[in-house]
Amino acid sequence: MYDRKPYKKKESVKPKSHNKHPRRRMVNRSNDFSYIETPKINSRIPKIEKDAVRVLIIGGVGEIGKNMYAIEYNDDIIILDCGFVFSVPEFPGVDAVIPNINYLIENKEKIRGMVITHGHLDHIGGIPYVIEQLGYPTIYSRELTLSVIKHRHVEYPKLKPLKTQLIEIESKLELGSTTVEFFEITHTMPDSVGVIINTKNGDVVFTVDVKINNDDGVVDKSEIETFSIFKNRNVLLSLCDSTNIEKEGFSQSEKVVSKTVNKIIKETPGRLIIASFASVISRNCSFIQTAIECGKKVVLEGRSMIKNLTIAIELGLLKVPKDAIISVEKASELDKNKYVIFATGSQAEEFAVLNRLANKTHRKLKLMKGDTILFSSSVIPGYERAVQNLKNNLSQAGATLITYETNEGVHATGHGNREDLKWIHSQIKPKFFIPVHGYHYMLVQHRKLMMDTCGLSEKDVAITNEGDIVEVSPDGKNFSILEEKMDNRLMVMDGNKIGPLSEIVIDDRRNLSTAGFVVIQMLVSKRTRTLKKSPDIITRGFIYIKESFDLMSDIRSKVKKSAEEEMSRSQSINIDDLKKKVYRDIGLYIFSETGKNPMIILNVIISY
Ligand SMILES: [Zn+2]
Ligand SMILES: [Zn+2]
Repeated sequence: MYDRKPYKKKESVKPKSHNKHPRRRMVNRSNDFSYIETPKINSRIPKIEKDAVRVLIIGGVGEIGKNMYAIEYNDDIIILDCGFVFSVPEFPGVDAVIPNINYLIENKEKIRGMVITHGHLDHIGGIPYVIEQLGYPTIYSRELTLSVIKHRHVEYPKLKPLKTQLIEIESKLELGSTTVEFFEITHTMPDSVGVIINTKNGDVVFTVDVKINNDDGVVDKSEIETFSIFKNRNVLLSLCDSTNIEKEGFSQSEKVVSKTVNKIIKETPGRLIIASFASVISRNCSFIQTAIECGKKVVLEGRSMIKNLTIAIELGLLKVPKDAIISVEKASELDKNKYVIFATGSQAEEFAVLNRLANKTHRKLKLMKGDTILFSSSVIPGYERAVQNLKNNLSQAGATLITYETNEGVHATGHGNREDLKWIHSQIKPKFFIPVHGYHYMLVQHRKLMMDTCGLSEKDVAITNEGDIVEVSPDGKNFSILEEKMDNRLMVMDGNKIGPLSEIVIDDRRNLSTAGFVVIQMLVSKRTRTLKKSPDIITRGFIYIKESFDLMSDIRSKVKKSAEEEMSRSQSINIDDLKKKVYRDIGLYIFSETGKNPMIILNVIISY
């Protein structure tokens, strides 16, 4: 045990702020970025043989996030989806993690197009960050997806316009030596598609973010009809969503959610605020219809909520009378039960509406006693603590909360549970399988399900990591993961630069966030090999100096002693050795006194 001096904070003293707006965090909203040059390291990957099929696992396994896969066949590469992940707590300061596309850049001339399954950010978010480096390949998708992509693209004015081509379910695309077909997919985003890529040895089928419409386990006729296209097909390989592999039974039907929430909209007294994912467009449209049918007006709050629903109205997916959607100001003139507010922020996102309501920082909206907040969402893993705090603050502000935890009927997943997945596999009947869209343990469980219920053996299922290349041999018989990997370094958007993640920088940021820093400046006399004056010390985030005079003066004298000891060892001053000695001595001393390891920065000025 070390002896820690009590650095007690005085109740009356307010911490001094170091700048004018101590609480204002600068957020990188610049959509003008550049790339850090990275060395090419994919050259050792052997050329693909004729008729072999390769699946490039660029992102989306070992995580739920930046989905991006590609099929390489003969001289062609077809990209499937292009997602990204917003800043993650593990990498402080990083704005987004994007797919590592270096292999695609090196094989740019083979790219025949980018097919996008649906408009969720984990499938489209990466487009602005990679499209230029890929040479602007044509993006193929359905109307809503293309619309969401284009609306987002205008926020990046330095990029060229996108080349897009609208597809329908019945479309057949000739891309290089393959034909690409589509089928309807049930998900929380309208216009979702499954993709079929024809090859000589059978089809490659891609189904991410998929669930099966069902009524208490009875599969809907529409699904049976959709999947009947696989009756006489020879499916060589399929890739499928693993998000809900741990959940037994069939997924909850959207019909149940509609019924439950419709009842809540009709019966809740006072003001109702519905918080849901802005991306769950189908469901939000259905809630809005209900509110309007009940004679209520609708207020949309939150940038992504307004944007997505505006697109839905533009495309005719949501049909509303002209005066049905009103502003907050207009709503405040109405009786509280005459309108419903649709808001973002169910995961406690920092700048979203709910958080601002909870913090009382929303400019136009204030929570009132008697308000009801309905969370039509479940908590995304990793956000539990933040959501708990949010609920606590909302409750303290007087709101009544209805959540998925207290009423399962208010939310349904967009991803199939085990029975959904079993049913899908029994329709597609692939020869080989790659589970995707999930953490490693989910992929392994998905393999077990495939082996237990679909007759595949362990070697028929590939458990992959990002950077893996899965290959089916030219005769269609062998299925393996190549030993050679694609460049799989984590690519991040850090400020306005895109490049590989620097572990050293991230480690420093982590340290700074837990212990702050101490800058020590020493003025050294070359002649006397002593310090000319007591060292200057600046700290931030380490300790409150005004209340730690003893510690500061102890550090000053330790620095002086340590530096002079080192300099007395020889006739000349070696700055590196001097820094090393002071760094070590002061680091140990600070830790023994405070239990903290702040970053120590030494600055030595030599005076003659
Ligand atoms: Zn999705
Ligand atoms: Zn997804």
